[in-house]
Amino acid sequence: MKKLASVTLLLGLIIGLVACNQKEKKEVVVSPTQKLVDQYAEFELTTDLNLLTEKEKQMLPILIEVADIMEELFWKDAIGDKSEFLSKLTDPAAVAYSKINYGPWDRLDDNKAFIDGFGAKPKGANFYPKDMTAEEFDAIKDEMKTDWYTKIVRDEDGTLRVAPYHEVYPEEIKKASDLLKKAAELAEDAGLKKYLELRAEALLTDDYLASDLAWMDMKSNTIDFVVGPIETYEDALYGYKASHSGQILVKDKAWSEKLSKFASLLPRLQEGLPVPPEYKAEKANANADMNAYDVIYYAGDCNAGSKNIAINLPNDPRVHAAKGSRKLQLKNAMQAKFDKILVPISDLLIDESQRKNVTFDAFFENVMFHEVAHGLGINYTLKDKVSVRKALKDTYTSIEEGKADILGLYMITQMAEWGEMDKSKLMDNYVTFMAGIFRSVRFGAASAHGKANMMRFYFFEEQGAFTRDAATGTYKVDFEKMKAAMNELGRQILIVQGDGNYELAKQMIADRGFIREDLQKDLDRVNSAGIPKDVVFKQGTKVLGL
Ligand SMILES: [Zn+2]
Repeated sequence: MKKLASVTLLLGLIIGLVACNQKEKKEVVVSPTQKLVDQYAEFELTTDLNLLTEKEKQMLPILIEVADIMEELFWKDAIGDKSEFLSKLTDPAAVAYSKINYGPWDRLDDNKAFIDGFGAKPKGANFYPKDMTAEEFDAIKDEMKTDWYTKIVRDEDGTLRVAPYHEVYPEEIKKASDLLKKAAELAEDAGLKKYLELRAEALLTDDYLASDLAWMDMKSNTIDFVVGPIETYEDALYGYKASHSGQILVKDKAWSEKLSKFASLLPRLQEGLPVPPEYKAEKANANADMNAYDVIYYAGDCNAGSKNIAINLPNDPRVHAAKGSRKLQLKNAMQAKFDKILVPISDLLIDESQRKNVTFDAFFENVMFHEVAHGLGINYTLKDKVSVRKALKDTYTSIEEGKADILGLYMITQMAEWGEMDKSKLMDNYVTFMAGIFRSVRFGAASAHGKANMMRFYFFEEQGAFTRDAATGTYKVDFEKMKAAMNELGRQILIVQGDGNYELAKQMIADRGFIREDLQKDLDRVNSAGIPKDVVFKQGTKVLGL
């Protein structure tokens, strides 16, 4: 707490000084913790309520109540007693940043403590007793110890016990379950009704299988609610324990229709790929279950630190085997990151004459078609008929992500040329694609997708797809050359995949898959300009206009 006290003292002094020198130039001094808070730009979560029925509108406040219970349970997952922790904080910035992080550890900075007096974050968060040793865990006989929906607790006599969530949090769980049943009564869509009923039951028993299956069966619903213990990342000790989360979504039915139309064009797009016939002989695969949504509420795990812009669920392999999985693209969450992050980056790095071409529609299309493009191309090598994944080993993800990026843009180009999309907006897709590369590698390119971005960036540079103006430090797209480069890179990637050419894939990554000095200097400019790193949401019934 020492640092906090001194920061408060310092702030007091500064405010005093400002007050004394009111007529002189006012200096705004921002505390170090406030600077951390400012890394998150605020964004309002709304949706077009006119698209909802009366009963759907009545359902939302009930779902928000359930989400708020998940919020409280996630505090327990992450740290334990929320009120006790928050009551010790005096600096409002420390309170604000703790609420973003659900504790005193900075999720954007490897979970380092940002408040003095706190050590490193326990790896097992609050899912296990903090003093539990690995030997002790290994010695537990109960098979349920690795279950997603249990905690390990230490009884008064010191013995460890496995306790399902519904026994650890009986009151909260009962209340959430009752509210879900109440919401189910309002549901007009039969699939949603069944899912909510089964989810209410699942909370009480910690058996989520039936409700996960019902969630996959639900197709015609407008409202969706991802609720309960979902992801296991918060458990950095073993990755067993799922944390509580509540995300309320409204399906964008116009986009769903567009997607099914585009899916019907996949065979023609596969045929048009810029490769010899043998490399495009496989059938294109449409991801049957992908839709766009507005998120209207984030609570608990999904709201901690960096916000998700897509959801891929469920996690249960039994459900995958029976029904596959679903991809949910979160349109307004993407809009938040576009407005608050991509636009300011473009203002620094994109040629002034082309900044008007950086648009949200293009950004969203690029993201959506990246996903669809995973289904184009080739899955088995021509010669040995092994899976491309197996043949390309550790290079596979970089090559495959690079393929999806470039073929996504290829699909948009083709469809614009066929008159299926607005051709006059194609330049937006290209310039926004370029700006997207800077956003993706802003904090480094070590990830598989980062390497894919850099391979493309330097390939584009070599082909003259863009030029950099040394005087302004901005980049300008050359449409025709970028289109040619796109086709050529698409061709090279598909051939590497079809040939299962591991050596060449490795070479491509080694040659171009990293950030060189010049670009690093430009990225340093972005990172010193105070552009937010993520977003934090204003949300709730008032924001929605309910
Ligand atoms: Zn991908």
